[in-house]
Amino acid sequence: MLKIAIDGPGGAGKSTLAKALASRLGIIYVDTGALYRTIGYYVRSKNVDPKSAEDVSALLPEIRVELKYENGVQAVYLNGENLGDRIRTPEMSMYASAVSAIPAVRAFLLDTQRDLARKHSVIMDGRDIGTVILPDADVKIFLTASDECRAKRRYDELKAKGIDAKYEDVLSELITRDRADSTREIAPAVAAPDAVVFDNSWMTPEESTEKLYALILEKAGNVARA
Ligand code: C5P
Repeated sequence: MLKIAIDGPGGAGKSTLAKALASRLGIIYVDTGALYRTIGYYVRSKNVDPKSAEDVSALLPEIRVELKYENGVQAVYLNGENLGDRIRTPEMSMYASAVSAIPAVRAFLLDTQRDLARKHSVIMDGRDIGTVILPDADVKIFLTASDECRAKRRYDELKAKGIDAKYEDVLSELITRDRADSTREIAPAVAAPDAVVFDNSWMTPEESTEKLYALILEKAGNVARA
């Protein structure tokens, strides 16, 4: 089984590149942020403070999160319902970030993530994949880009989905969220010591995909070709 970890801040291009690489390698792409967004969505629907470890933990027994693959595309189910793009709003980004700092939430989602990598070759994106979830990954990439590039990409993505947003708000939301994600006590979003840090600010997605594909073959060629 091939295991590739892609971590980094929001809007760095993780999901775009991981999807392209997954289809090129013929393996599954796992978007772990969707799991935290789903918990955030449930917490919001119950009007619970996403920062309250006690209140959020009390909701966990009511939550069943499943990742399913439909024509190779990941869908997240919350208690049997496919949430689609409802978890992609800026509000859900902040809810996801708040609940993700709660140890019980991370423990709750751990097995779902590790089980997938046990059963399938995966390219998994998130914040702690190389450090916590798959510390023995064959290839670890920490993807970055400048704040402005990331905000512009996220803004374009939201526009394309028909979600209304202001560029300045997207930029400040990303900066606030990255600061919280990278400085939290549990599983902070930092590069693993053996990760390759890859800044793709000035690259097209095609250029970045080419470079990362070459890197994967170099680091794990035997497994990737198997
Ligand atoms: O990747 P995405 O922006 O969808 O993630 C939403 C939030 O979920 C992040 O800001 C982060 O707080 C949290 N997250 C995490 N660990 C992961 C993936 C996401 O803490 N592996």
